[in-house]
Amino acid sequence: MTYRGRFAPSPTGPLHIGSLVSALASWLDARAHQGVWLVRIEDIDGPRTVPGAAEDILATLAHFGMHADEPPVWQSRRMAKYQQALEHLKSTGQIYPCGCTRKEIADSLLNAHTRNTTLAYPGTCRDGLHGKPARAWRLRVPEADAAIIRFEDRWQGMQTQDLATEVGDFVLKRADDQWAYQLAVVVDDADERITHIVRGADLMDSTARQIYLQRCLGAPTPVYLHVPVVTNDHGEKLSKQNGATALDRDRPLEALTAAATHLGLDLGNSPHTTLDGFYAAATAQWAKKMG
Ligand code: GLU
Repeated sequence: MTYRGRFAPSPTGPLHIGSLVSALASWLDARAHQGVWLVRIEDIDGPRTVPGAAEDILATLAHFGMHADEPPVWQSRRMAKYQQALEHLKSTGQIYPCGCTRKEIADSLLNAHTRNTTLAYPGTCRDGLHGKPARAWRLRVPEADAAIIRFEDRWQGMQTQDLATEVGDFVLKRADDQWAYQLAVVVDDADERITHIVRGADLMDSTARQIYLQRCLGAPTPVYLHVPVVTNDHGEKLSKQNGATALDRDRPLEALTAAATHLGLDLGNSPHTTLDGFYAAATAQWAKKMG
């Protein structure tokens, strides 16, 4: 089996140290496995996409010496694929239209006194829209033991999530007509024959949903590795919204060394002076650490 990995940034701003950590970890893992490394631009969320950000990210990656082995894939050009997957799930009865607003969902959870125990969608529209107009499409999650998804994360160890109590039927197409991340990412990972997913631990909570959706679509489940996210002074995941600054394209080794240090890689005492030297040392350290 050929290893195929990917880095899948959302173009909401320039690359920063947090996103560089995910890019570097996925790149090193692919190199350590003599595998293929791909880049996918996740510009599916129209309202969040910043014009020019994708080109900026691609230029920074190139400047940093991370070249994808195949041309980048753009989610905005793949709408027909997502529609096809939705039609398939419709035909098998695994999805249903939902007419609930956010407020209605919040209110019903409050009424059920479940506020502190679960935030799962209560399934109001499972058996019909109750006269409301359809807003979104939701995937029906299984019940009881069948709802428990387990997977072994290469960094974080064994993970378990109960889709019925912790998540509920989740949205694949949103009320604002946008494709949900969960659907797009599963369809694309399957189409690109991704075997290994390396990304930030903030996405850990989505993985059980993605594994279940893969099963619904008859797609294989890749191997997962979630790296620790970079946080700001308040312990929040670093993002453009909370103070992350764009990386200095002219000083790639500085940023790459910081990213490698975050990943716990020991690059020795003397700083690397070339990208090739850095990548050779970092790949060897990664292979030693992650196997
Ligand atoms: N586009 C997602 C993000 O930037 C990452 C998706 C993924 O790696 O699965 O947070």
